[in-house]
Amino acid sequence: MRIAIIGAGVAGCVMARSLSRLAGLEVICLERVAQGDHSEAGTGLNVGPNAVKALKLVDPTLAAAITQASFTWASWRISLTDGTELFNLPLADVADSGGWRIRWSELYRVLREAAGPSVRYGCDVTDIGRDGSDRSKLTVAWTQEGKANRIDGIDLLIAADGRYSRVRRVISGEPKVSYTGVAVSRLLVSDTSNGLIDDYEQWFNGPNRLLAFRVPPHHIYIACAFPIPPEAEIPSRLKIPDALRAAYTPHTSPPSSQARWLIDNVCAHVADTHWARMQEHDVLYRAADCNVLYLGDAAHGMVPALGQGATQAIEDAAAAAALIKRRHQEGKCHVEDWLAEIEGLRKDRMRFVMQFSLEATDTMLEGADPVTGSRRKNEAPFRQRLKSLYNDVGLPLQP
Ligand SMILES: Cc1cc2nc3c(=O)[nH]c(=O)nc-3n(C[C@H](O)[C@H](O)[C@H](O)COP(=O)(O)OP(=O)(O)OC[C@H]3O[C@@H](n4cnc5c(N)ncnc54)[C@H](O)[C@@H]3O)c2cc1C
Repeated sequence: MRIAIIGAGVAGCVMARSLSRLAGLEVICLERVAQGDHSEAGTGLNVGPNAVKALKLVDPTLAAAITQASFTWASWRISLTDGTELFNLPLADVADSGGWRIRWSELYRVLREAAGPSVRYGCDVTDIGRDGSDRSKLTVAWTQEGKANRIDGIDLLIAADGRYSRVRRVISGEPKVSYTGVAVSRLLVSDTSNGLIDDYEQWFNGPNRLLAFRVPPHHIYIACAFPIPPEAEIPSRLKIPDALRAAYTPHTSPPSSQARWLIDNVCAHVADTHWARMQEHDVLYRAADCNVLYLGDAAHGMVPALGQGATQAIEDAAAAAALIKRRHQEGKCHVEDWLAEIEGLRKDRMRFVMQFSLEATDTMLEGADPVTGSRRKNEAPFRQRLKSLYNDVGLPLQP
């Protein structure tokens, strides 16, 4: 059986590593960037306890390698930028394990090393289509080091090529995108905070939110958010130091020492800041009429309010890898059935995660009240949903 994976990012590497270990499968993973080039992955990630749990169950060795390159995400605190605390949650109260805090480039390094020789780097995919002789199968062409390559008769094509998935556009059409009305920026700076910033925290000034945590080796990840009209581009006048300082400085009291350090760093590093608009796109796990499986951002786009993008890419890949492994060991090798089962495992779970993430932007929208909204997160309904998010990973492991 021939399996091709497009993209050696989060989901693609987990799949390439897992599937290339199964006897009788020919697995090739095509990655656009050169080997060792993780430069597209500049900032930090908080990966949720649910991804840690899923990966530990499916691939404990890989989970241990990521743990070694990360700090534990053990708590979540929300305050105002004047220092007033609104919410302080030890993750152990709602999750079976902690999460990971890691540099994105480090996560890619660990995953790509673990995926091994099934990944081919520096590949420019030139064509993706249905195989002429069997329309459920696929064909992919690419160039690598100036040489043209092609594989036909692909039994399963896995699209793990991220948010702007070319496979999804070509095979299933352009996904529908909707904007939430929040601008987000991300930044990684050296840790000069002398211990002020450590585990995952958020600070509000009105609906304008700062978020930060420490990642190995000596860095702080900072994300800013503020409301904008949903369909508008982010105005450049709001991306300058004076506007950012005004957005996060409290009006009636001085900023806390944490907020002051963050505001100074945000303003000092505007040139290195990565800007985006919060957005979602619709869920699709498989193509309608051929054997294409979408995973990670290619399958779904969610707002980053609960840090579930890479987290769900890991959960997707852990579930898909476990299902395929199990069916393969049972001698059940009908790819269409695998895809239906994977969709069955993931679709409702993903709708829950996307909806929950969207609702968690409540404190960041124009006119929002972050005090009431953050305090409401102390109540049982929110905690119950967090427990589902962090624990109900739904893997097909039981016989
Ligand atoms: C700045 C920033 C901060 C984020 N912070 C968080 C966070 O804190 N927590 C969290 O859980 N998520 C976070 N996310 C989201 C997270 O990074 C993504 O959801 C996650 O990387 C998706 O994984 P994936 O495997 O679907 O795709 P990716 O990890 O994006 O991998 C896609 C891979 O496909 C390759 N590729 C793309 N097109 C092609 C092609 N045509 N041919 C070959 N290869 C191709 C790319 O080079 C890449 O290696 C953040 C995202 C951004 C941009």
